[in-house]
Amino acid sequence: MYSALLINEPFGDPAVLIKSKYRHESVLFDLGDLHKLAPREILKIGHIFVSHTHVDHFIGFDTILRICLGRNRRIRLFGPPGFLFQVESKLHSYTWNLVENYSNDFELLVTEIHPSHRMSRLYRCRAAFRGEPVTEEKISSNQPLVEETFFSIRCIFLDHLIPYLAFRFEERSRINIMKNALETLGLPTGRWLMDLKEAILQGRPESCPIRISDKSSGDRPANRVLPLGFLKEKVVRITRGQRICYVTDAIYSPENIKRILLIADSADHLLIEATFLHEDHEKAAAKYHLTARQAGLLARQASVKRFSLFHFSPKYKGAAAALQHEAKEAFERPLSDPLSPFDAATR
Ligand SMILES: [Zn+2]
Ligand SMILES: [Zn+2]
Repeated sequence: MYSALLINEPFGDPAVLIKSKYRHESVLFDLGDLHKLAPREILKIGHIFVSHTHVDHFIGFDTILRICLGRNRRIRLFGPPGFLFQVESKLHSYTWNLVENYSNDFELLVTEIHPSHRMSRLYRCRAAFRGEPVTEEKISSNQPLVEETFFSIRCIFLDHLIPYLAFRFEERSRINIMKNALETLGLPTGRWLMDLKEAILQGRPESCPIRISDKSSGDRPANRVLPLGFLKEKVVRITRGQRICYVTDAIYSPENIKRILLIADSADHLLIEATFLHEDHEKAAAKYHLTARQAGLLARQASVKRFSLFHFSPKYKGAAAALQHEAKEAFERPLSDPLSPFDAATR
C-alpha cells in the first residue's frame, strides 16, 4: 500500500516521497531541499526521478549523498537529457581521496532519459565516483522506466523551454489480506503474509508452498505450509493499485496539456504545481508555469480522484488559501460550465 506526500509545504522546494506502508522501498520525485526528511526515511529510498535540474528541483542531491555515504546502498537515479553530466559535475565537486578504504560501498546507477534511448552509468563511492563505461539502450515510446515487483514508473516529456519529465507511479495489484478469513482458518499474522503477497505479484504457480510464521512467536518459520492457490482463494482480495502522478513546471500550452492529460489519466492522486494565481496568468506563461486554475482544470480533465498543489510563488506568502481555493473551484466546476484557462476575468 503506497501513499505520496509533499516533503515541504507548498512554498518550499518540490520533492514528493512515495512510501510503502509495509516495505522499506520508497520512491522520490524531485530533489528539492530534503532537510525535513529524516535520515531513516532517506535510507529507504531506492529510486529517484528528477524532472529537471533547476536548482529548486536538484539541490537535495547533496543530502542524499551525505546520508548514504559509507553505507551499502544502491540508488537508481533518473533524469532528463544532460543528466549524466550534471550528476557527474556534482560528484566531481568533492574530494574523494580516502574512500577506497571504506568497508561499505554506496552506488549510484544514473540513467539519462531521451525520447528514443537511455544512457546509464554506474558511480561507486569506493572508486571515487569515477563513472564506469556508459551503456546505451533503445526504448519504445510507452516503455516503463522501471518495472519492480510492487510498482512500475513511466515518464513523459514536457516543455519548460527545455525538455523535462513528468512521472507516473503505478502500484501493481493491491493485495488485501482478509483478517476475518485468517481467523476462521486459525492462521496467525506475521512475515509470511509479505511472502504471500510477493509470490502472488511474481505470478508463482498455485502449488508454490507458503511457510506460515507467527508474529507473536518472533516470526520464526513454523512447520505449517499451505499452497499459494489455496491462500489466494481463501484469504486474499486483489484490487487495483494506487496511481500517483507528478507534474511540475509546465506552461499551459496545447502540447503540454495533451501530454499531462495522458500521464495523469485517472490518477488516484495528482501532485501538480500551481505557481501563480490566475490573475497573474500572463506572468505564469512567461515563466513557463501553471496557474492554480489551470492546475485544477487539468486535474478535472484528467479525471483524477484528488490532487495536491505545490511550488507556490513566494509573492503569495500568507495567501496559500487563495491558490488552493482557485484550483478547487476549477476542479469542481461542472464540465458544462468550464472556467477559461486563460482569461482571468471569466468567472
Ligand atoms: Zn524549473
Ligand atoms: Zn521549479
